[in-house]
Amino acid sequence: MKIDRIETAYYRLPLEPFGDAGHGAIDSEELITVKLHSEGLVGHGYSYTIGRGGRAVKALLDHDIVPLLEGRDAEDIEGLWDLMWQRLLYVGRGGLASFAIAAADIALWDLRGVREGRPLYALLGAGAREIPAYGSGVDLPKPLDELLKQTEGFLERGFPGVKVKVGREDPKEDEKRVGAVRELAGDGVDLMIDANMAWGAEEALERGRRMEEFGLYWYEEPTIPEDVAGHSRLAREMATPIAVGESLHSPHEFRRYVEEKALHVLQIDPVTNGGITASLAALKTADEAGLKTSSHYTDELSAHLLCASKEPIYLEKHAFALDPYLEEPQKVTNGRVRPTESPGTGLRFDERALDPHRVA
Ligand SMILES: [Mg+2]
Repeated sequence: MKIDRIETAYYRLPLEPFGDAGHGAIDSEELITVKLHSEGLVGHGYSYTIGRGGRAVKALLDHDIVPLLEGRDAEDIEGLWDLMWQRLLYVGRGGLASFAIAAADIALWDLRGVREGRPLYALLGAGAREIPAYGSGVDLPKPLDELLKQTEGFLERGFPGVKVKVGREDPKEDEKRVGAVRELAGDGVDLMIDANMAWGAEEALERGRRMEEFGLYWYEEPTIPEDVAGHSRLAREMATPIAVGESLHSPHEFRRYVEEKALHVLQIDPVTNGGITASLAALKTADEAGLKTSSHYTDELSAHLLCASKEPIYLEKHAFALDPYLEEPQKVTNGRVRPTESPGTGLRFDERALDPHRVA
């Protein structure tokens, strides 16, 4: 199947202002879409950012990836991933290049599904399964009463787990907030905390330990992704499992974390990891090491991908839902999600909803 033509578009989607310790205030999401045309069929892919860098992702696609892929065989998805990775190696090996590669890679997988009339999970050799979902807020600036209101909403939706951002300047504030959420949720609900790389390893260890009394299900991104040794130490010295993955931009980075025993829960994000191909490689690494898996954002794609994992424990239902812009938003039933049954990824943007936000 020859790739005839690739279209890209760039949108800025407004968000209700959010925030976390690592990325500061966030008031918009950038969405970069890819439509890959091949012999009368179309594969849809996308990339996203938290409001910065998206124009560079679009430029990498337009100037480097589109001309590289047009005319090639769409069926050779792994070969094309290697080709894109190699072509952008000098400026890449992660970062923005991975966000651009991801958009094309997702479109290639979608196209394969459309051509074969099979949903993505089936292409991955998996069966459809229900995955528990947890409610996830980007809530560090929220006052305590709003944080608790958010938690109530998650519990009403039947989520078996909830996640709270930590990283306030005063450790006592984090402890008060996490403690209050635990009290409201009760012992039967899994409670995760996410520091978004707020601290150095030493401080992350000290702050994490102070919150363990609240019974934590995992401790996410305690320190910067570059500090693999710091994560290893945290993984060794804390009773709470360490969760990492949204800031790892290649299968190589995941392998290093697993080899260094620097995580317990491997979290995929097929956009930030560099595509479905890259996230699949990461899941395989997790399976080989006997690690549990979860996801970051990308709710719709991850519902398929986690079906291909041996021990998927949770899908993140993220606060930045793309729902207003999707033809078929993901359904959550009793706090659980299933992958879609339509061919490909099942993710289709509602172009009428997106159009007012198109920039380029
Ligand atoms: Mg996170």
